[in-house]
Amino acid sequence: TYVVTDNCIKCKYTDCVSVCPVDCFYEGENFLVIHPDECIDCGVCEPECPAEAIKPDTEPGLEKWLSINADYAKVWPNI
Ligand code: SF4
Repeated sequence: TYVVTDNCIKCKYTDCVSVCPVDCFYEGENFLVIHPDECIDCGVCEPECPAEAIKPDTEPGLEKWLSINADYAKVWPNI
């Protein structure tokens, strides 16, 4: 799965949301997250993010962000 990381905080772009083929982005007040069970790992959103906030969870050190994405995707609205 892909995960949204700290560069997304207060970012106002939603280019990632527009390109996601399975609509698996969820939105909080100042941050977006990706639902890890819905992401199909297509990778399309990563280069679209102007803040370079989206990364594959295969990158080392992203465990914290993966768990943040999973937790908030359950409670925030889908966009
Ligand atoms: Fe959506 Fe693909 Fe990005 Fe996953 S990798 S969030 S499916 S655009």
